[in-house]
Amino acid sequence: MPDSPVARSVEIEKMSKWFGDFQVLSDIDLSVKQGERIVVCGPSGSGKSTMIRCINGLEAFQNGKITVNGVELAQKSRVLEAVRKNVGMVFQQFNLFPHLTVLQNCTLALTWVHKTPRAEAERIARRYLEKVRIPEQAGKYPGQLSGGQQQRVAIARSLCLRPSVMLFDEPTSSLDPEMVKEVLDTMADLAQDGMTIICVTHEMGFARRIADRVIFMDQGRIIEEAPPSIFFENPREARTRRFLEQVL
Ligand code: ADP
Ligand code: MG
Repeated sequence: MPDSPVARSVEIEKMSKWFGDFQVLSDIDLSVKQGERIVVCGPSGSGKSTMIRCINGLEAFQNGKITVNGVELAQKSRVLEAVRKNVGMVFQQFNLFPHLTVLQNCTLALTWVHKTPRAEAERIARRYLEKVRIPEQAGKYPGQLSGGQQQRVAIARSLCLRPSVMLFDEPTSSLDPEMVKEVLDTMADLAQDGMTIICVTHEMGFARRIADRVIFMDQGRIIEEAPPSIFFENPREARTRRFLEQVL
């Protein structure tokens, strides 16, 4: 029996994108079920970030179709509030406001964009700071935290809007090695809770641990996708094998 449309979280069909004459994404097909965990990897410049940015409407695309929770993104428009509020995004850079406390960073979008009353916003923010295991940092400023803690604040801030899918773009790439684990553990917690996750990362241990499927991209195309057991033990494509030799 085919899955019902509501069980699909993100559906990308034959999506292509150009920057001027340069085709950055070619015929991307990707269907992500609710609660599914996808890890995306591939060489630098293969289009991973651009694909992720298309999913939450930060980038326009020219051909094909993207549907998030049943809402279709218009190809030409970048801003689509209905999609944005469903999709959380965490970047390599934390992008926290340095002049706001951790708690204020987390409540900002709730109070300003969603008009949530302050007390309610703070209650929600504290709940997610608890979730990422830094409730005691609520009153501090980002500059007073470690990189790993700042990234966990960025994750909590996204969760405050209660997205149905979380996109991560190399969330641990700018962290010192000793802080990578705490952020990966936080993401693994989310995965455990059933959050739909699409994560660009080269942390292959993490991929083995949480991914239902690993996607390998090269030159703007999805070259291979498989469950981690198959992807790592028995990749089909020579390009995938070459890539894995470099990162493993
Ligand atoms: P990845 O995240 O896999 O490293 P990106 O999606 O960042 O790859 O980039 C894919 C390709 O698109 C690269 O060749 C990059 O130089 C190019 N690119 C990315 N953003 C832009 C842009 N705004 N304008 C023109 N080219 C871009
Ligand atoms: Mg990138």
